[in-house]
Amino acid sequence: MTETLQAAVIGAGTMGNGIVQVMADFGHTVTMVDVSEEALVRGRGAIEKSLARFVKKEKKTAAEVETILQRISLSTDLEDAVSSADLAVEAVFENLEVKCDLFRRMDGAAPAAAVLASNTSSISITRLANATQRPEQVIGMHFMNPVPLMKLVEIIRGERTSEATMQRTVAWAEGLGKVVGVAEDYPGFIANRILMPMINEAAFALMEGVGTRESIDTVMKFGCNFPMGPLTLADFIGLDICVSILDVLHQGLGDSKYRCCPLLRRMVDAGKLGVKSGEGFYTHSR
Ligand code: NAD
Repeated sequence: MTETLQAAVIGAGTMGNGIVQVMADFGHTVTMVDVSEEALVRGRGAIEKSLARFVKKEKKTAAEVETILQRISLSTDLEDAVSSADLAVEAVFENLEVKCDLFRRMDGAAPAAAVLASNTSSISITRLANATQRPEQVIGMHFMNPVPLMKLVEIIRGERTSEATMQRTVAWAEGLGKVVGVAEDYPGFIANRILMPMINEAAFALMEGVGTRESIDTVMKFGCNFPMGPLTLADFIGLDICVSILDVLHQGLGDSKYRCCPLLRRMVDAGKLGVKSGEGFYTHSR
C-alpha cells in the first residue's frame, strides 16, 4: 500500500482533470485549482463523464465513483490549495512566464517538504525549479493524454532535483498504476524528442508528395505496428502543439534536423489545428 497523499493539481484543463481523476481513483485527496470557475466546473464534468464510462463498462460501481468524486474538491485559491499539499502538480498553459510565476507562488505557500511537479511537455524543469527556493524538490511529471488510459508517466530530473525527490515521485507515479520512464532535462525530454521529429517527417513526406496522408499513415500503422499513423496522431495532439514543441527542439538543440515542416506551420496559421478545430490533416466531426 502506497502512502495516501494530499495533492493539488493546478489547471483543470485536458491534462489537469485527467491527473485529478487518477489521483482520486487511487485514494488520494485532491484539490483541483484553476483561475476560472468555469474551467473547474468543466473539469469536474469531464471527470464525471470519464468515470461514468468505467461504470458503463462495469469496471467500477456507481458507489465507487461516488467515493472517488468525494475525494475531489475545487478551488480558485492556489495558495490555500497547496498550503497542506504533499504534492502539487502544475498543468496550466505551456507558457514559461505563467509557469514560473506559479512555481514561485506554490513555493511560497506549500509545506517545506512538498514536492512541486510540472506536467510540461517541453519547458525546462531546471528553469521552473530556479523560480523557487527548493529546486531539489522540483521535478517533471509528464502524464500522457488521456491520463486515465495512458500508462506512461515520464519523470524528468532537473539539474538540481534530489535523488530523494526522484524516488518519492517515481513511487507515487507507480502507485497510480503507471509505468515510469526517467528522462534528463533536455529539450523535449524523451517522448517528444523522438515522437515530434517523426510527425514532422510525415508532414515533410506529405508536402513533398512522397505519399498521400492515407498512405503515410497506413505504412506507419501497419508497417511499424503503431496504433495509429503519425498524421492522425498529430491531429489528436493538436498541430499548434506539435509546432511549438518542434520550435523548442530546434531552438534548444540548435540542429536544423528539428526545423518545423513549412506545411505544418502553414496549417496552424490557417487555424487547422486538428481534432480540436475540426480540421487538420483530416476532417473531424466535433
Ligand atoms: P488546457 O489548455 O486544456 O488547460 C489549461 C488550464 O490551465 C485552463 O483551464 C486554464 O484556465 C488554466 N490556467 C491557466 N493559467 C492558470 C493559472 N495561472 N492558475 C491556474 N490555472 C490556470 O491545457 P492542457 O492541454 O491540459 O495542458 C496543460 C499542460 O500539460 C501543458 O504544459 C501541456 O504542455 C502539458 N501536456 C499536454 C498534453 C496534451 O495532450 N494536451 C499532454 C502532455 C502534457
